[in-house]
Amino acid sequence: MPVLDLPFAHATHDRAAHRRAEPNLVEDLLKQQGTRVLVLHGSDVATAGRRIALFVPDDVAHVVARAHLFLGEADGAAYLAAVLAEGEPRPDLDVDWAGMRTLDVPDLEQGLAVEAIALAQWHAAQTHCPRCGAETEVTQGGWVQHCPVEDVNHFPRTEPAVIMAITDADDRLLLARGPQSGPGRRSVLAGFVEPGEGLEQAVARETLEEVGVVVDPESIEYRGSQSWPFPASLMMGFRARATSTRIVRQEDEIAEADWFSRDEVATAVATGDLRVFGRTSIARSLIEEWFGSRLDG
Ligand SMILES: [Zn+2]
Repeated sequence: MPVLDLPFAHATHDRAAHRRAEPNLVEDLLKQQGTRVLVLHGSDVATAGRRIALFVPDDVAHVVARAHLFLGEADGAAYLAAVLAEGEPRPDLDVDWAGMRTLDVPDLEQGLAVEAIALAQWHAAQTHCPRCGAETEVTQGGWVQHCPVEDVNHFPRTEPAVIMAITDADDRLLLARGPQSGPGRRSVLAGFVEPGEGLEQAVARETLEEVGVVVDPESIEYRGSQSWPFPASLMMGFRARATSTRIVRQEDEIAEADWFSRDEVATAVATGDLRVFGRTSIARSLIEEWFGSRLDG
């Protein structure tokens, strides 16, 4: 069975990583009016008419960005992101601001924005050398932080996370709610991969820890992955069969957890008693794959 077609896995541009080491890359690209610049404020992106706003450099010359990131190339144009920190005032631009979790835009724009947000989140979280504490210099189009004291380079980190559709012998799906989620908001289980652990081990461990359910290791099946840069995750989706059904919640992580048949999901979604996460989430794709069709709402 082919892996899932996931919303954040459609990037069409060339990251053109070979260009990152060009001296003065960003400065030179900002002088070329063929360059396109998207503007980020925290993890929100500047939009116009429900599309991502792509500016020529002159139109954003007045924007004082804390960094410019080289995103790559498409159709002969180079793309940059101008990054403003969340706490700074929004620049004077005739735009709206939107989060990528709710924005449905063409693949090129989505791929550029997801890459830009992921890289910008790294710079937001790390500004100093994690080894010696010196302030780092951002180089290579935003892809490297250089420690000038130790003369070492630091690279962006991605945090692997597993997310899994667990079913029982009757093909019911396990849907849970975290303590921060509102009533009715249910999803499949997820968790970070721990150091020294494989993906399949993480699927089985998280399921056992969070709801006390045992997974058949032979049944664990990879279903696809996508970036989830809020702030730095790579979400890897699986499905697996449980060999036990009794739920014992880890109470600080899981407020509710139950097995749902397809009829129960269809009814609960229709009445609004069950709300699943949005179209861009891998959780929704895993739930809809099990359900057999798209869910409304
Ligand atoms: Zn250092």
